[in-house]
Amino acid sequence: MNFALNEEQLEIRDSIIRFARQELAECGEGNEFPRAAWQKCAEMQLMALPFPEAYGGCGADFLTTVVATQAFGYACKDAGLVHAVCTQLLCGMQINSFGSEELKRRYLPPLMRGEKIFAQAITEAGSGSDALSMRSRAEHAADGFLLNGTKIFISNGPIADIVLVFAVTNPEVSRISGLSCLIVEKGMTGFSQCPPMAKMGLDTLQNGELVFADCAVPTENLVGSEGQGAILFNESMEWERCLLPAAHLGTLERVMETCVAYAKGRPAFGQPISKFQAVSSKIVEMKIALELGRLILYKVATSKDQHKRAALEASIAKLYISEALKQTCLDAVQIHGGYGYMQEYDVERDLRDSIAATIYSGTSEMQQNIISRFMGL
Ligand SMILES: Cc1cc2nc3c(=O)[nH]c(=O)nc-3n(C[C@H](O)[C@H](O)[C@H](O)COP(=O)(O)OP(=O)(O)OC[C@H]3O[C@@H](n4cnc5c(N)ncnc54)[C@H](O)[C@@H]3O)c2cc1C
Repeated sequence: MNFALNEEQLEIRDSIIRFARQELAECGEGNEFPRAAWQKCAEMQLMALPFPEAYGGCGADFLTTVVATQAFGYACKDAGLVHAVCTQLLCGMQINSFGSEELKRRYLPPLMRGEKIFAQAITEAGSGSDALSMRSRAEHAADGFLLNGTKIFISNGPIADIVLVFAVTNPEVSRISGLSCLIVEKGMTGFSQCPPMAKMGLDTLQNGELVFADCAVPTENLVGSEGQGAILFNESMEWERCLLPAAHLGTLERVMETCVAYAKGRPAFGQPISKFQAVSSKIVEMKIALELGRLILYKVATSKDQHKRAALEASIAKLYISEALKQTCLDAVQIHGGYGYMQEYDVERDLRDSIAATIYSGTSEMQQNIISRFMGL
């Protein structure tokens, strides 16, 4: 076991931290999508990291992409933007791993350049945790499929140019082999995007409903083969439950550092509050979560680079890091006292942003179910 990052990974990490501090410092005010910042992220090649050089990507392995995402989550305070970029990467990874050569050539270059915004649509009003019981239906039609259904809570959805939509293609067989993934483009007849939904945090992330009403999708827009949707979904969840937690772990580290600085500088009863064990113990828990989170995260990423399944470890990483981030942000507000509750301090926003981490990409309860199933319980 080698726990050290190599020089290239350290260089990428440091350059992303420098970039985010210099170029994205003002990001995250208001609810608008920060298009200029998005474009800067693309120029920094944040959306190109794991993709083959043949399509214009950086050819980085998954561990390096995870290290880069962690650095991005650490240095960029706009968690909505970080989430939007992660969504873009995750869509690209599905196309790159399962898509035809034609789909890769058509979609990966504009994805990496940030010219087209991508979204993935799985959740429906009636099926979130129980995702595979979705009702959206893609029926065979001339030259392709006729797609009908409504998706909800879709990150990047309201502004997306391209959407990877999961739907039932064969209701006669089991859920495992009856789903497929189709690419829908903005402008296709029957596809409409609802305005962004107002939410608790991740302010700049545009998230909302997508409607497909007799939307004609050509056969060549099938990602993978027909009926491969559940396989694609499961593989994609392993990446997602590593990539999003990578960003969360970066945020956790930043919040921890903020708490260290604040606790050392805030006097009470004649000494810095860091000297009170009730305060320092909270920060110690953050440090432990950071170290342990990093181990499980890098284990998942390394397994994926070795083309191994890592569903169990990815669920552990997702559950542990998202819950740790939420607790860290709660404790950070507490440590900051009244100031922590005020919008003037970053920890107020960090807390609002952190709550969703235990919901999207499978709730904490669903991760516990997965882990328990692996244990034969
Ligand atoms: C900010 C944000 C971004 C999102 N982005 C996307 C996206 O880009 N694409 C997409 O497709 N979806 C997205 N989602 C949707 C997200 O994946 C779902 O909200 C999530 O899977 C939960 O589904 P649900 O909301 O229907 O809750 P439900 O499934 O109704 O769950 C409600 C509660 O019941 C619990 N529960 C349900 N079943 C069980 C069980 N078997 N055992 C124990 N507890 C259970 C849950 O844990 C939860 O606490 C996003 C959501 C959010 C908040």
